Amino acid sequence: MADYAKKRGLSVAVVEAELVGSECSYWACMPSKALLRSGHALAAAKRLDCAAQAVTGDLYAAHVLARGNSFTSDWKDDGQVSWLESAGMNLIRGPRRDHRRKDD
Ligand SMILES: Cc1cc2nc3c(=O)[nH]c(=O)nc-3n(C[C@H](O)[C@H](O)[C@H](O)COP(=O)(O)OP(=O)(O)OC[C@H]3O[C@@H](n4cnc5c(N)ncnc54)[C@H](O)[C@@H]3O)c2cc1C
Repeated sequence: MADYAKKRGLSVAVVEAELVGSECSYWACMPSKALLRSGHALAAAKRLDCAAQAVTGDLYAAHVLARGNSFTSDWKDDGQVSWLESAGMNLIRGPRRDHRRKDD
């Protein structure tokens, strides 16, 4: 949305209280798919004759979890901040402040 607005000539400021990239990048879509992928790949190999015989071990939970974490860039958002800046958007860190008057 921010990128869309910027490309159409509007000034964009992104207000973020936590990490730029939000839930999907750090807690949801990306790390969850990275976690699931190891199990899917192993199950697929076990279903395939010839490959199945080569699969002699099981997954190590610690490695699977580390893979999930690696997709979060260790919860650093430097890369996404660089992208925002290169696209000409302003980043304001911290919680949104509501400037409306109480009687509005
Ligand atoms: C386990 C899991 C897996 C998922 N997998 C997928 C998937 O594969 N594909 C898919 O499409 N969707 C997936 N989703 C859903 C997806 O994560 C959400 O739909 C998406 O993140 C919503 O984006 P958003 O920008 O609306 O909200 P968010 O990602 O929650 O972003 C809102 C941002 O606003 C910030 N914020 C909130 N309040 C304030 C405030 N007052 N001041 C300043 N900043 C504030 C928050 O810090 C946050 O960074 C998954 C969700 C989960 C839980």
